[in-house]
Amino acid sequence: MINVAVNGYGTIGKRVADAVLKQDDMKLVGVAKTKPDFSAKYATGRKIRLYSALPEKAGDFSKAGIDIAGNAADLFKAADVVVDCTPGKDPKVSEAYKNQYKVLGKKGIWEGGEAHELAGFSFNAFWSYDQAKGRQFARVVSCNTTGLCRSLWSVSQVTPIERVDAVMVRRAADPGDSKNGPINAIKPVVKVPSHHGPDVRTVIPNLNINTMAVAVPTTLMHVHCVTAKLKDRGVKADDIISSFEKNPRLVLVDEASGFKSTAEIMEYARDLGRPFGDLYEIAIWRDSVSVVDGSLYFYQAIHQESDVIPDNIDCIRAMFGKVGKEESMKKTNKSLGIK
Ligand code: NAD
Repeated sequence: MINVAVNGYGTIGKRVADAVLKQDDMKLVGVAKTKPDFSAKYATGRKIRLYSALPEKAGDFSKAGIDIAGNAADLFKAADVVVDCTPGKDPKVSEAYKNQYKVLGKKGIWEGGEAHELAGFSFNAFWSYDQAKGRQFARVVSCNTTGLCRSLWSVSQVTPIERVDAVMVRRAADPGDSKNGPINAIKPVVKVPSHHGPDVRTVIPNLNINTMAVAVPTTLMHVHCVTAKLKDRGVKADDIISSFEKNPRLVLVDEASGFKSTAEIMEYARDLGRPFGDLYEIAIWRDSVSVVDGSLYFYQAIHQESDVIPDNIDCIRAMFGKVGKEESMKKTNKSLGIK
């Protein structure tokens, strides 16, 4: 049994914690939170042990009538691995936590908002599962990078890829976030190429990939417009579609079935009845998959709040090295209802 702690209980942290609760080879020892807000009550309602992330704020929890089991340091001691889902916006905070994990001899997993260098190793279940074995630190790449790595894995099973150019149309804010924008503009990431291409190369070092990005006023999903120059010029769109169909972490959607936009995809996700209305799979518009003059084109949609969750679970198993890639991915898929 792997004892897992979650540090930072926001969008990603609460989903990782819930997913850990569903694994038969992991135990959630608790979560660390900065404040006694409604999410703290959600956690205690699920019988999750709460710890104060900031020792000086521990008293706020008792004032709010919420029991805590101690401070974050106590939680880290009880864990074999800490999944660090803190915002990743302040390198000093990230380094301080890394030192804590190091001193205690615990493994640490960070999320995509952190620099690759913090962990020195970036993880995607398809591409780098086997390289995670025995590592103390790893970083599960961001939602966008995870989406690109996943679909490009399926393309790479058909033909080597010579070059990828992709445009990320990014959601402005998560649904539970009231502070980010834009709300009335399209905001390009003016520095070209955007950071997403280099981030994919932290997982797939030899891939020639360049990206651009714009943020748009929506909260539901990101959309990627992907172009890939294929080495094998005989490949047909149907070959790529069959490879996508074989990958359980992708879902093919058709315009004719009503999937006209990200709105219908997220409505479908809610129909699935999963926690938080999540869609772990990357949704690819089947009708968009085309090969023209040796280049592949397709659109894919990313549920940014949840696509990285299966990879977090696989990353935990991969680092402990007791379960192989195929078995772990199957276990994760089954536990999360990914078919
Ligand atoms: P979030 O803001 O929703 O959650 C972060 C949580 O950490 C909050 O609850 C916050 O109170 C808490 N926190 C802040 N400082 C802390 C500290 N010092 N110690 C402990 N907890 C602290 O952020 P998020 O969206 O869950 O992002 C977490 C990580 O996941 C980031 O690296 C982010 O880039 C990455 N990520 C986010 C998304 C997404 O779309 N939301 C997708 C993939 C990866």
